[in-house]
Amino acid sequence: MDVKIVKTQSPKAKPDMATVPFGTYFSDHMFLMDYSIDKGWYDPRIVPYAPLEVEPCSTIMQYASEVFEGLKAYRTPEGKVQLFRPDENAKRMNNSAERMALPKIDVDEMVGYMKKFVEVEKDWVPSDPGTSLYLRPFIYADDPCLSLHPYHKAVFCIIACPVGNYFPDGMKPAPILIEKDDVRAVRGGTGFAKCGGNYAGAMHAGERAEKNGFSQVLWIDGVERKYVEEAGGMNVMFKINGEIVTPELNGSVLPGITRKSSLEIVKDWGMKATERLITVEELIKDAESGALEEAWMVGTAAVVCPIGELAYEDKRCVINGGKIGEVTNKLYEDLTAIQWGRVPDRYGWNVTVD
Ligand SMILES: *Cc1c(COP(=O)(O)O)cnc(C)c1O
Repeated sequence: MDVKIVKTQSPKAKPDMATVPFGTYFSDHMFLMDYSIDKGWYDPRIVPYAPLEVEPCSTIMQYASEVFEGLKAYRTPEGKVQLFRPDENAKRMNNSAERMALPKIDVDEMVGYMKKFVEVEKDWVPSDPGTSLYLRPFIYADDPCLSLHPYHKAVFCIIACPVGNYFPDGMKPAPILIEKDDVRAVRGGTGFAKCGGNYAGAMHAGERAEKNGFSQVLWIDGVERKYVEEAGGMNVMFKINGEIVTPELNGSVLPGITRKSSLEIVKDWGMKATERLITVEELIKDAESGALEEAWMVGTAAVVCPIGELAYEDKRCVINGGKIGEVTNKLYEDLTAIQWGRVPDRYGWNVTVD
């Protein structure tokens, strides 16, 4: 793999992992590659982390043509560095790119670039418990032109930031608001794509929820406005009458890799796990009766985050007495043990970097 490497002349100090806020402190380098309609992808390189040059009229600035990924490099107890299912991120990035008319990158090549980049930034993968190096690969269109036409130019970039333990004081059940006004996505729209625009449109409701003391919103479907879809940047799972259920991938739900991995794990435990439509009405009724035994969110950042309370209109339902459920906790322990290499990887999910 031919990647040009230009090392920084002024390496930064590593942050204090106990206090570094998420997504603010970046490693010394970044990966860049350019695309043109004539040449395809060209000039893969690792260079010092620096601001990007973008024309004010560029497609990314005017029309938000961007897709991104999020994954982590973990330090194992033996000091090795590994990525968790990076091929899944690469495949999803291409699915997102296709939806947004952005150019795709060969999956093996993309994984190769991620590995090469992490190899260069190896010292930035922290070893304190619960910490990791978060990778943010993204593709954006960069045509210097306001007219709407198929893109001629694009950029692929990977940046990385060391992230601390998501739950420095232990896992805490979160209060979640079921959003009934704004919608995040509709079938046929861009809900299944990991694109910046989805987040831009979600900020308003997120802000409102936060002001009212909730940590996130739970979105409902944009067509019939009655099915539960997912949380802000995490998928959602429930334990109802002893069974695991999660909203099915209907086109407007983001196909999370943590969701997919969690489903495989709970099925391996011998639990019944079903992907189906779940109405808000059913969920609230089950929360009130106690049939809803546990609720949690899943995503790369937190891995697993318990839901302690669900609010909808004027109802507020406490779940499992506001405590972390047994399955929630077991899933967190099992999945994080695989990711950090504390137990053998029985699924072959990890990709070693060095
Ligand atoms: C990234 C993301 C998720 C979680 O996906 P993971 O692959 O598990 O990190 C869920 N929902 C949305 C909207 C996302 O952007």
